[in-house]
Amino acid sequence: ILVIGYLLFEFILIFVLCYLNLIMLFIIATPIGNLKDISLRAIEVLKSVDLIACEDTRHSKILLDEYGISTPLLSYYQHNVVTRGRQLLEQLQAGKNIALVSDAGTPGILDPGYQLINAAIEQGLAMTLIPGPVAFINALVLSGKPAHSFVFEGFLPPRSLARRNRLGELLKIKRTIIFYESCHRIIRTLEDLEHLCPEKEIACARELTKKFEEVRRGTPRALKSHFQQHPPKGEFVVVI
Ligand code: SAM
Repeated sequence: ILVIGYLLFEFILIFVLCYLNLIMLFIIATPIGNLKDISLRAIEVLKSVDLIACEDTRHSKILLDEYGISTPLLSYYQHNVVTRGRQLLEQLQAGKNIALVSDAGTPGILDPGYQLINAAIEQGLAMTLIPGPVAFINALVLSGKPAHSFVFEGFLPPRSLARRNRLGELLKIKRTIIFYESCHRIIRTLEDLEHLCPEKEIACARELTKKFEEVRRGTPRALKSHFQQHPPKGEFVVVI
């Protein structure tokens, strides 16, 4: 009777907490480079939740140490989305408050956060987003391109033909186009752009919010020759 009574109590408690939105998945944006780019509310919630789901525990530990946060970290990344995602949902349903962070920026944008958020929505769990940095927003604003209507493409396909075809499709859209790129591929992508839209003024933003932040604007050819002379380093956002 005691056990049944306890289980019943727990069930009712969780139901009430869920109903009052007191059990939550807190999706928390974290810095994209400069550790100071985090909100007071984000720090407060990271301190108060039961656990923090992150992509790389070693990476997120640097941020937690900076702010004296000792909440346990649990890895949730590309290769364990199914198993770990299920465990995280079970923990949420069992009444735990969980924070979801990614390696950089806002979870859910090109990281496994998307799957967890979707699964939590399907389960009717309460959630909120504590806002903060998104790399493409910094790049868009700093590019000086029209920001009232734009297309964000994430990453282009890695293979040359598919990448060039996709760029060709995107260029037909008469809006600002933004995508993420790695330093290893930026020159090849600029070559594609030189071929597809030689006259366009584009912007390459790299190392945003970091010490060597740079936003370089010019034609694809001018940018290509710059990066051929100064080997590209860091993470890129391209704005067309
Ligand atoms: N969730 C992140 C966000 O909110 O922007 C995006 C994650 S995505 C996997 C990582 C890509 O974002 C990088 O390859 C790079 O293109 C871009 N990125 C992230 N931080 C950046 C920075 N500080 N400067 C330029 N690009 C950055």
